[in-house]
Parts: sequence; C-alpha cells; structure tokens
Amino acid sequence: MSQTKIVLQEKEMPRQWYNIMADMPKLPAPPLHPGTLKPCGPNDLKPIFPMSLIEQEVTARRWIDIPDEVNNIYKLWRPSPLYRAHRLEAALKTPARIYYKYEGVSPAGSHKPNTSVPQAYYNSKAGIKRIATETGAGQWGSALALAGNFFGIEINVYMVKVSYHQKPYRRIAMETWGAKVHASPTNLTESGRKVLAADPDSPGSLGIAISEAVEEAASRPDTNYALGSVLNHVCLHQTIIGQECKKQMELAGDYPDIIIGCSGGGSNLAGLSFPFLLDKINGRELRVVAVEPSSCPTLTKGEFRYDFGDLAGYTPLMMMYTLGHDFVPPGIHAGGLRYHGESPLVSQLHHDGLIEASAYQQTEVFEAALQFARTEAIIPAPESAHAIKSAIDEALKAKEEGKEKVILFSLSGHGNFDMQAYADYLGGKLKDAEYPEEKIKEALSRLPRIPA
Ligand SMILES: *Cc1c(COP(=O)(O)O)cnc(C)c1O
Repeated sequence: MSQTKIVLQEKEMPRQWYNIMADMPKLPAPPLHPGTLKPCGPNDLKPIFPMSLIEQEVTARRWIDIPDEVNNIYKLWRPSPLYRAHRLEAALKTPARIYYKYEGVSPAGSHKPNTSVPQAYYNSKAGIKRIATETGAGQWGSALALAGNFFGIEINVYMVKVSYHQKPYRRIAMETWGAKVHASPTNLTESGRKVLAADPDSPGSLGIAISEAVEEAASRPDTNYALGSVLNHVCLHQTIIGQECKKQMELAGDYPDIIIGCSGGGSNLAGLSFPFLLDKINGRELRVVAVEPSSCPTLTKGEFRYDFGDLAGYTPLMMMYTLGHDFVPPGIHAGGLRYHGESPLVSQLHHDGLIEASAYQQTEVFEAALQFARTEAIIPAPESAHAIKSAIDEALKAKEEGKEKVILFSLSGHGNFDMQAYADYLGGKLKDAEYPEEKIKEALSRLPRIPA
C-alpha cells in the first residue's frame, strides 16, 4: 500500500497567499454601492473593514505575504494532512485514486480559521476592539471567536436561528472562546425586527444574519464586520490549503484529474482549487467541481447577475450567481451551505467554464457520509459530505469506464458537533427538502435592476 497520510514540515508551509485575480481570464465586475448603484470605492467599505483587507479585496497582485503573526498561529494546526483514501477506494472497487485534504484538524474543526485569524489580525492592527458577524451552522462564528482571543477582540455573533437550536454545541464552543451569541433574527437590530414582524417563526438565514451584523458594525465606530466566505480576501486566505496540497500531491507522485469541493459561499473550494486552477489557466487538463445542496442550488439553478449579499440590502451589490437575496433556503442540516449567493470569483470562473457545478439531496449526501465514516474513520461535516458524495460518484464512473482517475476533494471539516444530523439520518427522520422552484422564481423576480 502506498502512503496513506502525506504530511509537510512546518518549514515547508507557504509564506504567501495566491491571488487568482492576477491570472483569471476575466475579472469579476466591480461591486456596486447599494444606494448609488455606482462602483464601490475603498471609502465605501471603510466603516466596516480595515484598509488592509479592503486592499486585499481589490488587488490583482499575484502573491500576498502572510504576516509572521498569522503564520505562527497557523502552525497550531498547519500544515494540514492530505490523505489517500485507500479504504474508501477498496470499498468502491474503483481504479481511481482518491485523495482528500483535511481541514478538520483546526481548533474550530473546519477551514474557516484560515481566514478568521488573518481577519482578526488585520482588524487589531487597525485598532478595532470589536467585530460583529453572522454564522450559519456555527463554524464561522466559532472560527472568529477563537481568533478574537489571539488579538484581544470581542466577538458578537448573529447565529441563524434554525442552527442555534439544531447545534447548541457550536454555540457553547463560541461562548467558551468568549463570544456573545444571538439567535437571528433578533430584536436587537432594525433588520431583525422587520423580519420578525413579518414572520415571528422565521428560521433565519445567512442573508438575514448578515444584515444584522452589518447594521451593527456600520452603526458603531468601535465595531467592524467580518465575513467567513464569499469575499475575495476570504478566498485569498484559504489558498494556503491548495498551495500546501500541491506540494503534498507532488510528494505522492500524483496530480488530480478532478478537484471537488462543497460550496456554500465558495471559500473552501476556492482555497483548494485556485492554486491548481492556475495550471488549468496555463493549459493543463483539470476539472474543478463545486457541489451544493439541491435545496439551495445557487450555481446550478441561480442566475448570474448583481445582487445583495444580505437580506436587507445593506451590502454592496455583487456580480454573482444568486437565488435572490430574500430567498430563505429550507432548514437542511448542512447549514453552512444555506446561502443565496456565491463568491464573485467562483461565480466568474463558473461563468467562464473553469469551474463546474452539481447538486445533491441531503439523504444521498448522508449515505455517502456514512460510507466515508465507516471506511476512512473521520465523521465528516454534513457540508463536506456533499464533496464526498460527488467524489464517490466520480470514482464509480471511473470504474465503469475502467479509467485510473485521480480524484482530490476538500474535506472541509469534521462533523463531531453535528450528531443531531446523524441521529436524524440514522433514525430515518431525515427528509429530502424539495427544490423550492416557485420561491426561487419569486426571489429572483425581486432582484434590483441595474442600468447598463
Ligand atoms: C462554512 C463551511 C462550508 C461552506 O463554506 P464555503 O465558503 O463554501 O467553504 C463548508 N464546509 C464546512 C465544514 C464549513 O464550515
């Protein structure tokens, strides 16, 4: 048996992030100011972000240095391991070689600390003492909560209500790391109160929670806002994953034919795939696949156009695939994938044919999660299990075709805090959420019209 766990030394860690804006065939259209509908300038973002992050949001410089302070914290769990899935391959009887890059080794259990740490760092350098944010399943909130400790920043989290109740342990983790957590929609903000007035039983959504956090950050000078996915600087920070992985694939003597990642806002997929996409842009054959839930099918069923990042329309308009900013996805267990929009970078790359997309129902996703847990031992996050399902399908296709494919996927997090989801699945209580076609159509019909 060839190597199972492919590890790098600390001294081999990448010292720069990779910015795909230097290389993509077509840059995303600029974000627009929500009031004037004119392109956003750096000053428009200053009330909620530090200048250093605004610069990373817009620069086309290819390599961005990782500050020593950030690198030293990364070393607590990085470099993360790359695994060859020998046992899953054997169970599938596939000629494909399956690899997965595992980000569940971080203290929060997902890839999100790769960006929460630099975001907290740059905010502290700018003198910020408080950050407001939203969280879906609690992954981002806990990643930011732990990062706040390193830099003495207070973290205030608006947690999507359905997850607040489904996943109490992530809330407790956030509180253990010192954050304050509210079930969103709350009556603490104008946007939350509006939603509650219309629907007192609203399960909440990332779009609503973002409105609440942005509203708070914009109205308090001591408070900034931080987003755990979607934005260019978030995708940038996550490229540490793919750069490590390139070195590890080299050590394994392989190169992927196909790279798979689940996609909520697009950041773990971006992080793993962008450094490889550079090779594809330069002519190498490679498929990159984004996997999403059928009940929140942003890339597969959404439209590519300008939309707000949040429900209330406080954020700049971004050119992206969207289901409509007031679409509230069904309360599936993969809470981190319940977002109406998608990273503008991933969206543009999908639009230009460099990234494919597919969607699955949650019961077939959990079936794949169990097969993975029983062969590879790690209990995956429900979000990550979407990538597993797709990897298994690709491996079975390779078997049918009798091809030796190399499949690499992102195991973005572990599911140790998602036991209620597994209990529901094992108890036969997990239902496939229907594709909410009418609701999406309605939400899309309410998108802002942008004059050409
Ligand atoms: C948040 C999260 C996701 C989805 O976010 P992306 O920005 O699309 O990566 C996926 N997996 C896990 C484990 C998460 O915590």
